[in-house]
Amino acid sequence: MRVLVTGGAGFLGSHLCDLLIAHDHTVVCLDDLSTGWRTNIEHLATSAKFSLIEASVLEPVDIYGRFDGVIHLASPASPSAYLDRPIFTLRTGSEGTRNVLEFAVAKSARFILASTSEVYGEPLIHPQPEEYWGNVNPAGPRSVYDEAKRYAEALTTAYRTYCGADTGILRIFNTYGPRMRPDDGRVVSSFIDQALNSRPLTVFGDGTQTRSLCYVDDLVHGILAMLDSSEPGPINLGNPVELSVVEIAELVLELSGSSSRIELHPLPQDDPTRRRPDITRARDRLGWNPQVSVREGIARTVEWHVKEVEKLAS
Ligand code: NAD
Ligand code: UDP
Repeated sequence: MRVLVTGGAGFLGSHLCDLLIAHDHTVVCLDDLSTGWRTNIEHLATSAKFSLIEASVLEPVDIYGRFDGVIHLASPASPSAYLDRPIFTLRTGSEGTRNVLEFAVAKSARFILASTSEVYGEPLIHPQPEEYWGNVNPAGPRSVYDEAKRYAEALTTAYRTYCGADTGILRIFNTYGPRMRPDDGRVVSSFIDQALNSRPLTVFGDGTQTRSLCYVDDLVHGILAMLDSSEPGPINLGNPVELSVVEIAELVLELSGSSSRIELHPLPQDDPTRRRPDITRARDRLGWNPQVSVREGIARTVEWHVKEVEKLAS
């Protein structure tokens, strides 16, 4: 297949590009490098199966030739990134998604949307199945991301229903692993960066809020399974093992051998108190099941951060 990956220089996107190329597909990565890093994909630069187009999805997408698949990941994803650029985030989720959908329709390519567990907001049903419509504060600070993704789901559904587009919606739960920037602001990369630099681990609130952490290798296999299927979704992708934020901090301290302490900071507004995916659909319809335990995944991620620090020092 020839596949367009928007946001392909980011954390998830770069792992997805690796996996697609390992499966002998040809990849065009389109990224504005706003939160992505060129170094995430520099090892692919010599591959005849890979090319990078530095551009924004806010402009119409026009790339010559046949495409079989389009995987739309381009969007700020970390709360600190989307709160820094709220209007850009809304525009990327809305206008940007429309531009990418138009491209997929023009190429008769299957379109996969990277939506998010954030569409469930502060969930009143636990764990979250896809049938749940969510509980998002439309005027809260996180709405610039949550509502952009909800709109992107609506747009994707409309293109499928009214324009005959072949689409699939994935709702991705918290994913972590190598290549998430140390300054990205999300929980695992922040805690590991703090632990390795002997700084206190900044737990927000009392740390009893929960998240379910999926290792990136597992996640990108789920995206590929969705591309290979004809499922419309939405389908949740995530690892259902649920941990409190304090438990995540303690695990990072143990696996990094750090003696940093835990420091409590105010809880950001509308920070969801719990989150755990029901992945019955992903298991039944995609044959997907996460394989990497949280201990193993965090240990691998710590190892990557240590190497990055060594690289910077040399
Ligand atoms: P990331 O910030 O590492 O990657 C996002 C990529 O999109 C970056 O390379 C960035 O430069 C690019 N980008 C942003 N806006 C763009 C624009 N207007 N035009 C072109 N490129 C643009 O984040 P990530 O964690 O890899 O997330 C990738 C996707 O997966 C996002 O859509 C995110 O919402 C979704 N997602 C991620 C998670 C997670 O836990 N990692 C969870 C749920 C959903
Ligand atoms: N969090 C934290 N300290 C940090 C970063 C995040 O306690 O330095 C908490 C955050 O308040 C949330 C959870 O960890 O409850 C996951 O945050 P993240 O930003 O990774 O993703 P979210 O699920 O909120 O989008």
